[in-house]
Amino acid sequence: MDTQALKHAIQHSGRYNRKGFESPTQRAKALGESYQSDLIASIRENDFTFEEGRLKIKLAKSFGFCWGVERAVAMAYETRRHYPNEDIWMTNEIIHNPSVNNHLSRMNVKIISTRNGIKDFSSVSCGDVVILPAFGATVQEMQLLHEKKCQIIDTTCPWVSKVWHTVEKHKKHIFTSIIHGKYKHEETLATRSFAGDYLVVFDLAEAEYVANYIQGHGDKNKFMNKFAKACSDGFDPDIHLERIGVANQTTMLKSETEAIGKFLEKTMLKKYGPANINNHFLAFNTICDATEERQDAMFSLVNEDLDILVVIGGFNSSNTTHLQEIAVTNNIESFHIDISDRISVENNSICHKPLESDLVLKKNFIPHGKIKVGITSGASTPDKIVADVIEKLIAITK
Ligand code: SF4
Repeated sequence: MDTQALKHAIQHSGRYNRKGFESPTQRAKALGESYQSDLIASIRENDFTFEEGRLKIKLAKSFGFCWGVERAVAMAYETRRHYPNEDIWMTNEIIHNPSVNNHLSRMNVKIISTRNGIKDFSSVSCGDVVILPAFGATVQEMQLLHEKKCQIIDTTCPWVSKVWHTVEKHKKHIFTSIIHGKYKHEETLATRSFAGDYLVVFDLAEAEYVANYIQGHGDKNKFMNKFAKACSDGFDPDIHLERIGVANQTTMLKSETEAIGKFLEKTMLKKYGPANINNHFLAFNTICDATEERQDAMFSLVNEDLDILVVIGGFNSSNTTHLQEIAVTNNIESFHIDISDRISVENNSICHKPLESDLVLKKNFIPHGKIKVGITSGASTPDKIVADVIEKLIAITK
């Protein structure tokens, strides 16, 4: 499919909006009322530190709502104000944050339902308003909405669009896109739909597996079984790994994306030699600024001699999970929660989600005596939720 031509047709249909409806001042006011916190503002001013009694809190120097999320949420709210009576749909959760999604649901902004893993667009009628979330939508979904003559409100973050341009460039020059990401994540599903031939690798170990195959050491059947759900239709590793370009889901661990890019570049250099490398390898780092800043701030935070760390963000939020990974690899006891209700002040307990695990209840998670707690939050977490968590920690340590 000519994805660029389709995007052009949609954007010039007269039924497409990617700027929103209100002025920056109106937007900031509406968001501030719902999501900002005076407590967090004062902690920011106090060098990201808060102390009361035996509790000391260090906030990461960069955390919470990023520019792209703020913009997407604001556009969703103003869409409802602009279309007070119309049916409004979202192709997915606007961002990975339960409180924001519940808020939108109370405004009767509905998420298109899924049946047996497939989205059911039958409830969307001709002319309905449909919001595309910050991490985008697939090209097939966009085409369907275009054919249904829906009003499309596109909140896709420009960083995500940049990844789409990258894989479209690979497609144009007949390179296979090696996408560092989670093959089932909504953003990567969208990116896959814009790519030509592609292979999604989850981590460095999978990239090494691919590199091994490129060097002629792999088994084709085993390779195809391993990546069966993570490659394009008709993918043949003997053909499609000769010319590769790297792209990534915007919220992956930056250091790992860089390591994967360098590793694959070295592999192609070894195989084809420096004189031919440009015919066989294209690199492009599409990690967004916000993800990078939050990860860098987390690397500083883990050096703060903390007793425990609380990481706040949706359980399906990729960038939050990577913050939790940084805590784990630095051997700091850390608790990933999505909302402040996971903490019980009465029982001094926290119901948290360790990496790759179900929820676990930890009793007496705040020990006696002085305690230093690090806190960070993912790009889809409003300050207000971070403030609610801090209030609970204050209550427990009183
Ligand atoms: S995390 Fe990055 S890519 Fe995602 S919405 Fe925020 S700024 Fe955009």
